[in-house]
This record gives sequence, structure tokens and C-alpha cells, in this order.
Amino acid sequence: MISGVNNVHSLRTRKIGHAISADVHVQVDPFLSVSEGHIITISVERVAKECLEDLHDVTVHIDPEDDETAAPCKHLPERAVALGILNKALFNNECDGEIERIQLHYLDGKIHVDFFLPLSCISPDTSRNEILKKLTKMVKCITSLWQY
Ligand SMILES: [Zn+2]
Repeated sequence: MISGVNNVHSLRTRKIGHAISADVHVQVDPFLSVSEGHIITISVERVAKECLEDLHDVTVHIDPEDDETAAPCKHLPERAVALGILNKALFNNECDGEIERIQLHYLDGKIHVDFFLPLSCISPDTSRNEILKKLTKMVKCITSLWQY
């Protein structure tokens, strides 16, 4: 088993003359970075070609969760729409200045959001609890902006 690969599904192969082409879905830790997912794809392609001599072409789909029977996140807004809603809520709650980076995770029919804040936002006048309180208020405000 390749490190980082949790499961494999929907393996399909086609034969054109002597050449075989395949595509496969590879389930990984949903919180891996895109770059690590890319490296896992390269490993899967290499191992598949080592195992099957006539394999000419492999397409690897990286899955954060099992989507074999259902696509639980299909109804969710795409990145631009989701970020638009989040940025509006951050701005309305005066939180927009503190956020360095936002990471969206589409899992289990929900969007999980990571906010990355600089250490400098914790100063003698802004405590961790104050930031948490502001962000909690902002998250509640998202519900009212949600018209998807
Ligand atoms: Zn899949």
C-alpha cells in the first residue's frame, strides 16, 4: 500500500490493442495538502505501471472521502461563492483585517473552514478569547447571508 492512500475504488480499465489504460479513485486523508495529493498521484501512477507491463495511461482521481455511492458535497457552493459569503461576513463583523488565509474543506456535505491568523493579532489589547468571540459572532452571521 502506498503511504497516504486510505482506500481505492472505481477502478476501470480499457484495452486498446495491447495497450491498457486505467482510471482509479484514491481516497486520502481529507486534510492533506494539494501538493501532497499530487505527490500521491505520481506514486500511484508509478506503482500501477510497475505492476502492469502494458499499462500505458493511468488517471488518478484524489478523493477526500468515499464518493463511490454518493456525492455529499455536490450541492455546496463553489469556492468563489463560498469565499464571497465568508468575506462579506468577515467584513460585516470587522474580522477581515486579521485573517491571513482561508482554507475550505468540502467534507460530509458541509464546508469546514480553517482561518489562519497571524500571531501578531494576539496582543495585550486583543486576547485569544476576544478573537474567538468575534469569529463566533461572524460564523452566526453567515447563516443570515446564506441564500444558496
Ligand atoms: Zn471517488
